[in-house]
This record gives sequence, C-alpha cells and structure tokens, in this order.
Amino acid sequence: MAEIAFIGLGNMGSGMAANLVKAGHAVRAFDLNEAAVQALVGKGARAASTLSVAVTGADAVVTMLPAGPHVKSVYEGADGILELARADAVLIDCSTIDVDTARAVGAAAAAKGFSFVDAPVSGGVAAAEGGTLTFMVGGPEEAFNRAEPILDAMGKAVIRAGEAGAGQAAKICNNMLLGIHMIGTCEALNLAMKLGLDPQNFYDIASKASGQTWSLTSYCPVPGPVPAAPSNRDYKPGFAAPMMLKDLKLAQATAEEAGVETPMGRRAREIYQQFNDEGGAELDFSGVIKMLAGELGSGVK
Ligand code: NAD
Repeated sequence: MAEIAFIGLGNMGSGMAANLVKAGHAVRAFDLNEAAVQALVGKGARAASTLSVAVTGADAVVTMLPAGPHVKSVYEGADGILELARADAVLIDCSTIDVDTARAVGAAAAAKGFSFVDAPVSGGVAAAEGGTLTFMVGGPEEAFNRAEPILDAMGKAVIRAGEAGAGQAAKICNNMLLGIHMIGTCEALNLAMKLGLDPQNFYDIASKASGQTWSLTSYCPVPGPVPAAPSNRDYKPGFAAPMMLKDLKLAQATAEEAGVETPMGRRAREIYQQFNDEGGAELDFSGVIKMLAGELGSGVK
C-alpha cells in the first residue's frame, strides 16, 4: 500500500485513480478542476488543494494530463514535481505526449536521480474504469520494475517498450493505426447500411470475419452492437476527437522526422482535422461516422 499522488482526474484519470484506491493505495487527488477532485473524494481518495500538497512526501506520482505542455508545466519549474517529490519517489506519466517531451522530462528526472517512466495507455474510458488498460512503458529497467505493481492495479497488461520515450513511440504508432481503422470501420458500416444491410447483422458478420477490428467490436461507431460505446450516447466522449487529432499530428511529425512514409496516417490526420473544424470537436472520435455519412460538415472527398 503506497501513498500515491494522482494528477489529472479527467475522463481517464478519474477511473484510473479510483482503481488505485480499490487496490488499497492512499490516493491524493489533484486536478485544476475542483469538481473532478471532489468526485474522486467520493470514491475514497483524499483531496489535495495544490500540486505541492499532493506530491510532497508521496511514494509515487502518477500524471494523466492532456498533452506535452501540461506535463512539462507540472514537472518543471520551482513548483514542479521534480522539485517537490521525495528523492526516492517513482514518477509515472500516463499521458499521451510527444516523444521529445517524454525524453526531455525523462532526462531531467534522471539527472535528479528519480525513477521515471513514460507509461501511456491504450483502452478507452471503459478500460480505465474497469482496470483493463494496456500500458506501454519507456524508461530504465529499474524504474519499470518499481512502476509495474502500481500500473498492474490499473491495467491488464504492462509492457516495457524500451528506454525513455519508447512508451510514447509505441503509443503514437498504435493510435495512428486506431485512427486509420476507425475511419475504415465507419466507411464499411456506412456502405453496408446504404446497401440495405442491418448494422447489427453486418456487425455479427464482420466481427467473426477478417474485417474484425477493435473499432468495430469494442467501440462500434453505430449505436446498438456495443452498448458501452459512445455511439449509444450521442457520441459524448469517451476519447474526444481533438485528442485523436493530437495523436495523429504527433504521428505525422514523428514519421516526417524519421523519414517514414505513412500515407494512410496522413489521410487520417486530414479527416480528423476536418471533423474537428466542422462540428466534431465536442464529440467522441467515433462520431467521425456522421461526417463520413454526410450528416455533418461540408462533405469528405
Ligand atoms: P481530459 O481532458 O478528460 O483530462 C485531463 C485532466 O487534466 C482534466 O481534468 C484537466 O483539468 C486536468 N489538468 C490539466 N492541466 C492540469 C494541471 N496543470 N494540473 C492538474 N490537472 C490538470 O483528458 P483524458 O481523456 O482523461 O486524457 C488524458 C490523457 O490520456 C491524454 O493525453 C489522452 O491523449 C490520453 N488518452 C485518452 C484516452 C481516452 O479514451 N480518453 C485513451 C487513451 C489515452
């Protein structure tokens, strides 16, 4: 049982922190949004009024924040985690951020003698709540070994990908694939319905055939076949479209830097950019089916 500071209690962090409480840890909850903190207090965590109150003296610090700049800002500076944390605390960043920021934060943490891992997750809000996330972890073996038992309490798989930043590299490759296959899944369902097929019937077939994808069987973008999917609640996120756009931009920037051609990844980024610009910014990323069906925005060519 450890004292764990949990920073960032949004769609994902709230469920993850609740699972740490369930596992018997003493969780100190901090978020800029006071309502998010109070919601977690209702689940057995202690409220921390500031980052400093959360982090000072904790055995471990977990961050689950929107993007690289947020992670940088809570780690660095006079009031940052690297100044506040106990010297032997293990630091775990579960946010999805760019590889360069992850490496820079990892290097700054190592320079101060901290055990730090980048440990982004795969699985949506349901997996965060159910404790069935997959963690892809970058960092020294010693830091991984210390982080693993904490991550185990929030996930079904914890896999080391390599040194600092490697977790983020695995994550953006995974999410580029997710963006591509969500668009493909939406296209196939739209076409199936236009051809007169019942979506549940097509789901039953494709989920047992070679078209099966996670986007179809865990996150079906039409209402009905997967009751927990955001499609059943008007595409309320879930995994918000701007987050998917962020990941696809990260993937393209990284691919360019690496000199690797990713034409489908490029197209997925364009489609999610249009979706964000033309009415999808408040929706779950699976809501792109509405734009692909011509029900939202100016049409996709
Ligand atoms: P979210 O926007 O719902 O939550 C982020 C939380 O961080 C918010 O509550 C916000 O108030 C808080 N926050 C921001 N800056 C802060 C600061 N300086 N100090 C304290 N709290 C701060 O986002 P989310 O959907 O929970 O996603 C979090 C991360 O997980 C993102 O990097 C995202 O890409 C990744 N992710 C999300 C999903 C998903 O399905 N939502 C799946 C996998 C990975």
